[in-house]
Amino acid sequence: MNIDRPDRVADAVARIKQALGSKGWIEGDADTLKYRRDWRGNRTGKALLVARPITTDETAAVVRIAAEAGIAVVPQGGNTGLVEGSIPTEPRPTIVVSTDRMTKVRSLDSENFAMVAEAGCIIQNLQGTALDAGRLFPLSLASEGSCTVGGTLSTNAGGNQTIKYGNTREQVLGLEVVMPDGTVYEGLNTLRKNNTGYDLKHLFIGAEGTLGIITAAAFRLMPAPRVVETALLALPSPEAAQTLLLMARELSGDAVRAFEIMPRETLQLALDHIEGIVDPLATPSPWYILLELATSSPIDDLRAKLEVIFERASEAGLVTDGVIAETEEQRRQIWRPREEQAEAGKRAGWGLTCDVSVPVSRVAEFLTFSRAEMAKMMADVTFNTMGHMGDGNIHYTVRKPVQMDQQVWTQSKQGLADRLNDIVSDFGGSFSAEHGIGAEKRETLEKYAPPSKLALMRTLKAVVDPNGIMNPGKILR
Ligand SMILES: Cc1cc2nc3c(=O)[nH]c(=O)nc-3n(C[C@H](O)[C@H](O)[C@H](O)COP(=O)(O)OP(=O)(O)OC[C@H]3O[C@@H](n4cnc5c(N)ncnc54)[C@H](O)[C@@H]3O)c2cc1C
Repeated sequence: MNIDRPDRVADAVARIKQALGSKGWIEGDADTLKYRRDWRGNRTGKALLVARPITTDETAAVVRIAAEAGIAVVPQGGNTGLVEGSIPTEPRPTIVVSTDRMTKVRSLDSENFAMVAEAGCIIQNLQGTALDAGRLFPLSLASEGSCTVGGTLSTNAGGNQTIKYGNTREQVLGLEVVMPDGTVYEGLNTLRKNNTGYDLKHLFIGAEGTLGIITAAAFRLMPAPRVVETALLALPSPEAAQTLLLMARELSGDAVRAFEIMPRETLQLALDHIEGIVDPLATPSPWYILLELATSSPIDDLRAKLEVIFERASEAGLVTDGVIAETEEQRRQIWRPREEQAEAGKRAGWGLTCDVSVPVSRVAEFLTFSRAEMAKMMADVTFNTMGHMGDGNIHYTVRKPVQMDQQVWTQSKQGLADRLNDIVSDFGGSFSAEHGIGAEKRETLEKYAPPSKLALMRTLKAVVDPNGIMNPGKILR
């Protein structure tokens, strides 16, 4: 590596610019700011250049030149990641490689239920492309209007439909990746069965750009849903929601595609900070479930099933009120408070935000216990503990007591986070369910990951990226 040789670095930057042409790079503090600052606005890094290759060959050329000069490479898609993973964070010469010009859908074979898309494709656009072909691209998350194939794969994002279709990992059939030395791993295929040695795609999914730059992916598609039914239900407690989850899965024939829990605080946050949100129910409730059923069968009467679930849950005292969407616009209104949580949180000012998971069967017990424990540690804290209950995943926000001095809160909130992570661990859970590790959670990973896992991860990193140029300072310390 030649990281201490500024002339070599300057020469490499000039060669990268030449390889990409005038539209393929951006420099200067002002113009590169949006690529250097994380989505929450917590951190801003430094970059020599933002490279914007348009093909796999260009990406490979950029990485090869950077590697030769020992320049670090930070891959970036939509920059919606929530753990400071997609921006430079290390004090060494670094370029950001943005995939924002790699937006081609290379193929869509509706009979093979498969699509090959480049890394910079926006998830929402792929949903539309698949739907036009009568197919479902089953990833759905609140950031889908901005997040990309590369970033979603690299964080193994979950989202709102994991309960039915699985995380990003489950949608992937093959990958194409530019390796840290600038060679290309050619693993794009659309096969359902392919047991020819190590399944290397899984190495890169969830690797947060530390092992290479994903340039394209082959995805499985599903039959497009013909009927979708959505309800917002009011419940007295997380325990009622836990019972409702089982009931809904059984009575619907496992047609549940979203089961999102929200305390009143979730709805209130959206009502307070986002324009145009309406409270769908007349009376406030301590807890809500956003329940969505979907089927690709035109002869499956989902509405009848949803009504039976509603009826039986009401008779059992699990549900106290509710509304079923009659139109697509009503469905959208029901989803909005949930979808706008990140934006509302941003506007309200962040509290302590965690993204944890526990076994699905223990969510209610976990919520009740952990909230009581935290309240014991600090009186008058407020909670917004909501999210993908059907996957055991809670986005867990604890907010400062109104009267508390900001400085005291800043000093003491880590204690709350530590306690929460210990509780999660005692429940057999994960301190990072969806968002990954990035630069933000490396110490937590050190604390909670089994040493054998950390050792194997370090070995893999050293073999795949011996010079440590790919996204340094992320995942591993
Ligand atoms: C409003 C909002 C809602 C969200 N909801 C969810 C949710 O429901 N579920 C969920 O899991 N996450 C969620 N997230 C987090 C985030 O959106 C996802 O992690 C998202 O998929 C990241 O995609 P991106 O293209 O923005 O990636 P980026 O933020 O650009 O990058 C994320 C990571 O991937 C790496 N990376 C990016 N592109 C590549 C590539 N081509 N090759 C290799 N590495 C790459 C980066 O280096 C970084 O480590 C949400 C974020 C926001 C802001």
